[in-house]
Amino acid sequence: MNKALINIDYTIDFVTGALPCGEPAIRIEDQMCSLSEQFINEGNYVVFAIDLHHENDPFHPETKLYPPHNIEGTEGRNLYGRLKDVYEKHAKDKNVYWMDKTRYSAFSGTDLETKLRERHITELHLIGVCTDICVLHTAVDAYNKGFNIVVHENAVASFNQTGHEWALEHMKNCLNAEIK
Ligand code: ZN
Repeated sequence: MNKALINIDYTIDFVTGALPCGEPAIRIEDQMCSLSEQFINEGNYVVFAIDLHHENDPFHPETKLYPPHNIEGTEGRNLYGRLKDVYEKHAKDKNVYWMDKTRYSAFSGTDLETKLRERHITELHLIGVCTDICVLHTAVDAYNKGFNIVVHENAVASFNQTGHEWALEHMKNCLNAEIK
């Protein structure tokens, strides 16, 4: 089975910066790095699906909901910690794809589905933040499009522990995700 790793929003702003998950996100750094390295080295497709915003964009729904975050060209939009090194080391690898996204779901307004279908990928492994926002919304779209879903429990995190636990249960029970 062809599988891909979807590496979601593990940037400085979402870990310790403008819209931080904080300690739970800091704790998954090692696992984020080791899973990314493992999938890349095994030749699997690895997508860095990273939120992109422009400051005070009047047309973006998140402008009313959150402080500015992941603004184009800012330090806060860099990958957090050692994951930045992992990405930079492999940035030119054929199986590594940096993909800007502007909504919660990695499928919304992107060419992700085309890239996955071209590669006959049927199983998506989700890691990153936040479990109950961008990871969840990506999982919902993946489910509706017929992909099998694996969520790595020790490589997802949220600022909201209740939301984190609820989202894992929901993805398991309603999206048939394997939680591992
Ligand atoms: Zn955002």
